[in-house]
Amino acid sequence: MRLEILNTGTELLLGNTVNTHAAWLGRELFQIGLRIARQTTVPDGDAIREAIGESVARADVLIVTGGLGPTSDDLTREIAAEVLGLELLTDEAALRSLEEFFAVRGRPMAEANRKQALVPAGADMLENPHGTAPGIYIPPRLHGHAHGAVFLLPGPPRELYPMFHAEVVPRLRTLAGAAHVPAALELKFTGIGESDFHQGIDARLALVPGLEFGYCASIGEVNLRLIGQPEALTRGRAIALESFAACLVSDDGASLEEVIVRLLAAQRRVLATAESCTGGLIAHRITNVPGASAVFSHGYVTYSNIAKCGLLGVTADALASHGAVSEEVACQMAAGALRVSGADIVVAVTGIAGPDGGTLEKPVGTAWIGLAARDAAAAAFRVFHPRNRHDFKLGVSQAALEAVRRKLMLSC
Ligand code: ATP
Repeated sequence: MRLEILNTGTELLLGNTVNTHAAWLGRELFQIGLRIARQTTVPDGDAIREAIGESVARADVLIVTGGLGPTSDDLTREIAAEVLGLELLTDEAALRSLEEFFAVRGRPMAEANRKQALVPAGADMLENPHGTAPGIYIPPRLHGHAHGAVFLLPGPPRELYPMFHAEVVPRLRTLAGAAHVPAALELKFTGIGESDFHQGIDARLALVPGLEFGYCASIGEVNLRLIGQPEALTRGRAIALESFAACLVSDDGASLEEVIVRLLAAQRRVLATAESCTGGLIAHRITNVPGASAVFSHGYVTYSNIAKCGLLGVTADALASHGAVSEEVACQMAAGALRVSGADIVVAVTGIAGPDGGTLEKPVGTAWIGLAARDAAAAAFRVFHPRNRHDFKLGVSQAALEAVRRKLMLSC
């Protein structure tokens, strides 16, 4: 089934609003085994006519977002009806729910809002409990015209997202036909590079009949995407795990920090962090996860030597002999934080983000990651991420979290 997306809105092309709908729809459609064949962005107004005209002739399904509001630049509904040769009629039920929408808010309904109750003859209104603009579904080949199915959806995310789930997904499933919808699986790996997959398993995955696969790499993470019928997915998954099981973070979309919070909760353990070069990013990532309060107690940001000594008991001797970015100091930070926080497990990081401060022996990008736990003495390992400050912090936080995950996995 060929599926296209058309995102409308001048603000998307002026750079004022990032087109998050395209990415969001791509992810949601992938979850139900569908993929976008083409995505187009056009400004409000006449450009929509040409874009809809091209897409409906080519695609089995076209999803259009934006331009269903009451203002004069909201023309998606009118243009779609015109391109498909459909008359626009007032839907009485939609008009009543618009009037109710304003009545319960104690506001008069503007005349301009009446056009939001217009629907092309033969099309379905899609209920919008979160705003004034109902969506519209135009079934394929309506009145014998040669066109694919068309969904017109509102622009505001708080209206689009629930409408997509409630009204669009069931219709897409019917249009695709259950037997033809392939399943999709995303395996998230860390501590391993994309090239390891190419060398390790590409050739074997390619031999699985009906399996489509691909990779998406970001800092410290590689996602392996598998698409196909369930049997092909099972075989693809087994091949990936035969080689890289130790690096698998999740197969349900969970992030590294979500997996860590789950593991800590299951093991009834509490984590603390002692951060220098990441400036609190590791604690930030952990505390982004709902439920973190039950498993995370302290986040020390000890950026200066004074803080490292005063809060964590790092010795002046260790700093003088080995430097702040060293195995010794990473271990002392982890052991000190374990002692003063009372947590069960601590991860500590100290490194050189740059652009200044590097030496031949310790170039910019060097970091030491220390780990201490109630059941193990502190130990540290070195990582090297010679990148800009932002990516350095992300890479070091990723390596630190992966160290915590592996430590927790030992107790599983
Ligand atoms: P409205 O009644 O608000 O006019 P509408 O259906 O006409 O609704 P738009 O005017 O196109 O929708 O968009 C409304 C708001 O939704 C935009 O200001 C923007 O904040 C957000 N929005 C629209 N399209 C996108 C997109 N592709 N990505 C991210 N946000 C978007």
